[in-house]
Amino acid sequence: MSVEFKCPSCGKKLFSYETRARKYEKIIKNCKKCGAEYADPRCYELALDGIPEDEFGYLQYVLIVALGAFFIWRGIHLLGVYQLGVPSSMQWLMPVVFLGIGVAAIIGAVISMISIKTGAKRRKLEKLLEESKIRMKDPTYKASLRRFGYNVPDDTADFYYN
Ligand SMILES: [Zn+2]
Repeated sequence: MSVEFKCPSCGKKLFSYETRARKYEKIIKNCKKCGAEYADPRCYELALDGIPEDEFGYLQYVLIVALGAFFIWRGIHLLGVYQLGVPSSMQWLMPVVFLGIGVAAIIGAVISMISIKTGAKRRKLEKLLEESKIRMKDPTYKASLRRFGYNVPDDTADFYYN
């Protein structure tokens, strides 16, 4: 589901996002119109939440491969039929688009599965976790997160991040 995000201070529309979107970067940002701080709902601090294990699941990629195969099947089917309402010089376009989407989806999913299998994805997330730990050492940043309702351990718990 796509949702609009507006600046909580001035109401400017800042971006649209998919509710399942997830980014591992700085949560607190500044509105480009009024400069006020806001908490980006797409963003997570790995130092607070830990690395989510569902990042290493294969099922979503298996589904993408299946979807890609469906597109390829549709593309091959369309190659063999005359499409009504499409000029003859453009008959090739739809099948090629379908085949292209199918092949790209499968390649992308296979690359993702390989990066899970080889541990490359875990290493990448561990690097992001280290960056997150560095951000979480900043008392100003932690205070901002608390102001936006994030459950941040207090400063006496700093040893937790070291
Ligand atoms: Zn604003």
